[in-house]
Amino acid sequence: MSTIRRKLIVAITVSSLLAVIISYLILTFAINRQYEILNKSTLEARDKRVVQIFKDAYTKDDAYKWTESSGTSVIKEAQAQGFAVSLEDSKGTLIWQLPVETVIKELTAKSDNPSLITPEQFSTNKYPVTVSNSNVGYITIRQYIPLIMSKEQENFIFNLIVSVLISALLGSIVIIFLSFFLSKQLTDPIKSISSTSYLLSIGNLNAREDMETDIFEIEKLKQSINLLGGKLEKQNDLRKRLVSDISHELRNPLNVLQTNLEAMIDGVIPMSPERLQSLNNEVIRFGKLLGNLNILKEFESENLEFNMKPVNLKNICQDIYNNFFGYAQEKNITLSFEYYRKDNYLIMGDSHGLNQVIINLIHNALKFTQSRGKISIILRKDSKFTYLTIKDNGMGIPESDLANIFERFYRVDKSREEVEGSGIGLTIVKNIMERHRGKIEVASRLGVGTSFTLTFKNLPSDIRDISI
Ligand code: ADP
Repeated sequence: MSTIRRKLIVAITVSSLLAVIISYLILTFAINRQYEILNKSTLEARDKRVVQIFKDAYTKDDAYKWTESSGTSVIKEAQAQGFAVSLEDSKGTLIWQLPVETVIKELTAKSDNPSLITPEQFSTNKYPVTVSNSNVGYITIRQYIPLIMSKEQENFIFNLIVSVLISALLGSIVIIFLSFFLSKQLTDPIKSISSTSYLLSIGNLNAREDMETDIFEIEKLKQSINLLGGKLEKQNDLRKRLVSDISHELRNPLNVLQTNLEAMIDGVIPMSPERLQSLNNEVIRFGKLLGNLNILKEFESENLEFNMKPVNLKNICQDIYNNFFGYAQEKNITLSFEYYRKDNYLIMGDSHGLNQVIINLIHNALKFTQSRGKISIILRKDSKFTYLTIKDNGMGIPESDLANIFERFYRVDKSREEVEGSGIGLTIVKNIMERHRGKIEVASRLGVGTSFTLTFKNLPSDIRDISI
């Protein structure tokens, strides 16, 4: 397996070498093409001048004719530049010429590689000579176009390409060095994050990533790792606290049972059905506590899948109201359910979880409200939210305790000890509400009553009632 750094360096090196090769190819092509264009225009200008020389010879001394010596002045230039010339009159009769063969001979004498020059390597251009608007003859120029460049041309192009290549190579070397540095900047933070995540994985839950980076993705990765670390640490603390809370909670009833049973065995206190009943009540309370803990564990575990779908809160409340109505009557408590018939109370939720929330709140209200009391379930909504209030006129909660009642095992005061409970019900409620992204608020006055209000986001109106 390769490292990111190695991959980056290889990629940058390969691409800069490719860039050098491509620039070499483009450069050679461009120089050759430019050279051709330059050559062509020089030759055209030269041809024009040669035609003018013949024109001047024609009109020299007002003779208006050519002689056999008319072309002698171009011979030197023609031999030096490698072109043949022939002069014809207007009827096409040859008057004078410097033949191709003579030029070949001349060129061969100068050339290092004589066998290469042939008449086919000459390009032909024929120009009419016009004097006073009438055609007086033709000049044909045959230019030797060498297949091989001259040494000077070759040297010039070679030097040009070499210098460009050297600068491209130097540029590549700088880029490759830079890539070492840049890849280090990229891989160092990744290495650091990977060692932090390794530390987390081996149980070092307070390990956090603190390196600085200006790379967006790495910064995000760092934040996620730190978030993960935070969550793991919190979960771990919760687990530890749960274990210590449970052992603390269980120790009390177990001690009571143990001391009483031991006292009975030793005959210190007599064994009576009343005493046994009271110990049995303690065992029952113990069982209920374990039952509640089980529910809490279920809702606290992140693994528990909530089946979130559109549910009608009114239907859930109606069922619970029907189930509790008789029990409330037995306790001589009036239980009422209020809502606007025209409203629909659709929210996104898990009906099992929501049932648990409402049952726990009504249960508490029934526990802490005396005979002839009143408990109301009130549903209402506005354009954004649906509110469910469970209100009683029971004993209320002291203001100093309000902030703690959602804590696990928190019970308000000893005077309520005779009321059965384990201090877990509201923890479960809060947990389920968090999973619903809902809000729970409590308002209470000692001796006046308590009301819990749950707030849920409304469903968009176009979602139909597909709930129970
Ligand atoms: P418990 O099992 O003790 O009822 P909860 O978590 O449900 O545990 O409630 C925590 C404490 O909050 C209770 O012990 C009680 O003192 C107080 N409490 C909850 N609901 C009410 C209420 N409706 N009226 C008065 N006190 C309440």
